[in-house]
Amino acid sequence: TYVVTENCIKCKYMDCVEVCPVDCFYEGENMLVIHPDECIDCGVCEPECPAEAIKPDAEPGLEQWLKINAEMAKSWPNI
Ligand code: SF4
Repeated sequence: TYVVTENCIKCKYMDCVEVCPVDCFYEGENMLVIHPDECIDCGVCEPECPAEAIKPDAEPGLEQWLKINAEMAKSWPNI
């Protein structure tokens, strides 16, 4: 899965939302997140993010952001 990280906070550019083929972005209070069970790992959103906030979960050190994406995707609206 791909994961949205800190550079998204207070940005929410939405370019990623436009290109995601499975609409798995959710909008939280101050950032967007990706639903880990819905993301099909296509990678299309990563280069679209002007803030470079989207990363593949294979990158080290993203445990905290994976947790935040999973939790927020459950409680905030799909966009
Ligand atoms: Fe959507 Fe593909 Fe990005 Fe996953 S990797 S959030 S499926 S655009």
